[in-house]
Amino acid sequence: MKILSLTMVQFDGGGHTWIDFDLYNIVLIRLAKSFLFSPEAICMSHPFAALLASVCFGISATPVLAQLQISETPANPPFADATIQPVRRQETTTEFATVVDQVNEFTKKYGAENVLLVLDLDNTLLAMNQDLGSDQWFTWQEALQNSDKNHPELVAPDFEGLLEIQGMLFALSTMHPPEPGLPEMVGDLVIRKTTTVVLTSRGKEFRDAAERELKRNNYNIPESTLEIHEERGVFTPYSAEHPNKHGLNAEIIADLGSPRRVTYSDGIYMTAGQHKGYMLKTLLARSTKAFVDKPFANFKAIVFVDDHLKHIDRMQDAFAGDSIDLATFRYSREDRNVDKFNKSTKNHVIRDWELLNSFIKTALVK
Ligand SMILES: [Mg+2]
Repeated sequence: MKILSLTMVQFDGGGHTWIDFDLYNIVLIRLAKSFLFSPEAICMSHPFAALLASVCFGISATPVLAQLQISETPANPPFADATIQPVRRQETTTEFATVVDQVNEFTKKYGAENVLLVLDLDNTLLAMNQDLGSDQWFTWQEALQNSDKNHPELVAPDFEGLLEIQGMLFALSTMHPPEPGLPEMVGDLVIRKTTTVVLTSRGKEFRDAAERELKRNNYNIPESTLEIHEERGVFTPYSAEHPNKHGLNAEIIADLGSPRRVTYSDGIYMTAGQHKGYMLKTLLARSTKAFVDKPFANFKAIVFVDDHLKHIDRMQDAFAGDSIDLATFRYSREDRNVDKFNKSTKNHVIRDWELLNSFIKTALVK
């Protein structure tokens, strides 16, 4: 694990990350090749073999399950008259076309330059090709840690250790869009100058894997995204000493507690598990087009898409009293895969992790 830990620290440093990743892959590819052709490889499960094969041969593993449609729930109250009160819409959908329709509606009303599209990453723009390392796998491991620190199925004894392993799995794994044509639909909005931001709960140390997979899946977010004042893109989102400086106030900051550092660059905002609604507000207040009396810059409408209801609710809460239109979509495309994992014995991911971990211990720690 020492070699892997060192590499993850280098990922965090930025600047030389692709070189680091290439070296990391060269080492892993050689080791994985020797392991794949060894007698132990015969015992591998299919998803794990696919994961290693993707490392070894550059082949994308196939999605765990075929994508299945889930019936769409009807929209909540019909649009209010924007001249009286701002639009509030909250909907669940498996079809990103519903989001596109909403962006088009706001664009018609306000112009593309005044509409902000905010998209979650995991299980929204991209889903993991195997269960090990997926959003649902991480959620399961986190819950296990909270219920029993000594649970035998834990991959790490504490949250930091879990994050380290998650980072390694992000680095090794490939991802796919949950819905066919999703990158093209997002791409059409970006080309039509809709300002687009990817808002993820992932921490800044996972930026390289996120950028790599977004690029590999042909997402073109940086072509039309938000510009902010923070020159290096790494910042502490709020401060109790200056509570009103970045779009929040003392009461909100007292509720949020201590901030964790975040990064924003190339349209990807990595917020380390913090409140997505308030993280968006602090980002907007840093926009080059924002002023003290215009904390949302030029934007008159926001469309937010996320697979987790928690983040949808938080976004609605954060903007509840503000004069800006807001439409949120809980994107449920991956629900079937998540439900299937949650109801499973988890034996497949336990076995896959044991095989990967034994491979790492055998091959990398001498
Ligand atoms: Mg998500």
